Amino acid sequence: MQTVKIPLSIEPAKAALKRMTYDGIIVKGNLSRLNEVAEVLTDHVNVSIECGVDPQDLVVIQGTATASLELTCQRCGKGLKAEVTADFVYTPIRNAAKESEDPIPEAYDEIELDEYGSISLVHLVEDELMLALPIVAMHEPKDCELGNKNMSFGELAPEATVQEKPNPFEVLKKLKT
Ligand SMILES: [Zn+2]
Repeated sequence: MQTVKIPLSIEPAKAALKRMTYDGIIVKGNLSRLNEVAEVLTDHVNVSIECGVDPQDLVVIQGTATASLELTCQRCGKGLKAEVTADFVYTPIRNAAKESEDPIPEAYDEIELDEYGSISLVHLVEDELMLALPIVAMHEPKDCELGNKNMSFGELAPEATVQEKPNPFEVLKKLKT
């Protein structure tokens, strides 16, 4: 199958009018924040995005991203392979600080347009994949090196408390402030 790189950014209003769909990949090198918290095992992540206009005339950017990752098991500290899928529905807004007159339906996340009326698809997908990561990555007990030792759930192995990779939620929090 031929793989196409999706555009790094789009103008949602135009894309929605043309009902654009993007089915392709984002190369690993563009996902540096995700790479900091998990190892991306393939050279890309798969992304499919549809743009359209809903009955309320809101522009909608909807899609799915899938990544094969290696996380760090919080119990034994060894690698843990995981398929992470993120589904998202966004509506672009002009100015996040300004209250819009019509409330945005709760089903949509809001994404702020930049000064050119564009959004970064790469950032959007990366944020979504980071949010989709398990809060605590752990092997199934039978697969975990420490799983068969008598440890109660939630207790961390001494070596696992030394976090080599930053918590993705902390990273996101910093970015959003
Ligand atoms: Zn483990």
